[in-house]
Amino acid sequence: HLGSEEQKQTWLPKMVSGEAVGAIGMTEPGAGSDLQGMKTRAEKDGDGYVISGQKTFITNGQHCDVIVLATKTDPNAGSKGMTLFTVDTSLPGFARGRNLEKMGHHAADTSELFFENVKVGADQILGGEGRGFANLMNELPRERLILALGAVAACEGMIERTIAYTQERQAFGQSISKFQNTRFVLADLHAQVQVNKAFCEQSIEQYDRGELSTTNASIAKLTTTELQGKVADQCLQLFGGYGYMQEYPISRDFVDARIQRIYGGTSEIMKEIIARDILGR
Ligand SMILES: Cc1cc2nc3c(=O)[nH]c(=O)nc-3n(C[C@H](O)[C@H](O)[C@H](O)COP(=O)(O)OP(=O)(O)OC[C@H]3O[C@@H](n4cnc5c(N)ncnc54)[C@H](O)[C@@H]3O)c2cc1C
Repeated sequence: HLGSEEQKQTWLPKMVSGEAVGAIGMTEPGAGSDLQGMKTRAEKDGDGYVISGQKTFITNGQHCDVIVLATKTDPNAGSKGMTLFTVDTSLPGFARGRNLEKMGHHAADTSELFFENVKVGADQILGGEGRGFANLMNELPRERLILALGAVAACEGMIERTIAYTQERQAFGQSISKFQNTRFVLADLHAQVQVNKAFCEQSIEQYDRGELSTTNASIAKLTTTELQGKVADQCLQLFGGYGYMQEYPISRDFVDARIQRIYGGTSEIMKEIIARDILGR
């Protein structure tokens, strides 16, 4: 949405073919939810900019060829002092830190990234100088909707796996799917997932029409990811001790679900956004 024709031609075909991997660098050790507290600086230098700073928790950090990097171009201008850049990771001064060890999401890499006097041209600005915060606010609803859809899909997968397991597992002379508790837990979770799915489908239609509001994207992200945590916990319970074993996918579902309430904006930040809409600041 924000790229110049040149930026699009440089990166998008390679990203589609898989030759280039992208990352988004917002979070810093001292600034996550409070993005405006970020310290990474892009200082004007002749025709271009020099970037110095540090990011952390960056998905694809080990693999990325290009980073959409959030920087401060004017530290005194508040939200209007933030600018996004497309940074090529082959540039001198860029370094990758550790691949951080996480409790889940082991298939994804998450890293620290370092920028020491990385020189970039002014044509690497994405979406206008000083427009970084506004651009992030406009584009993050899409990310939140994607996370919500992932949550619904994960819930459906967990319920499907749990139905199969409880129909097979026997206790007290019958399959555990025959116990009223099992039936009520699964019926309740299924009902909640279907209601959340309907809201997500409505949100997709709004997104397609260019009408998805920040509030609705936050409602979708908040409710589906909280539900994912509940589904993971209650489904795992129905597996008994086997649910705690790594060879059973439900144990991976459980640890993978936990991050959903944190990244892409925490549940608390989603509630702040919704509250601001219905109550004002
Ligand atoms: C696996 C993983 C992948 C990630 N991928 C990326 C990525 O690709 N790019 C990227 O930029 N970032 C990424 N992140 C970072 C993620 O977005 C942040 O961790 C998240 O936004 C929270 O920031 P924080 O960790 O600094 O927590 P903090 O902001 O320090 O929050 C700590 C607690 O305080 C609460 N809190 C903060 N402010 C308020 C408030 N105003 N009201 C009420 N409660 C509040 C939070 O909700 C939370 O419970 C990733 C993180 C992880 C763990």
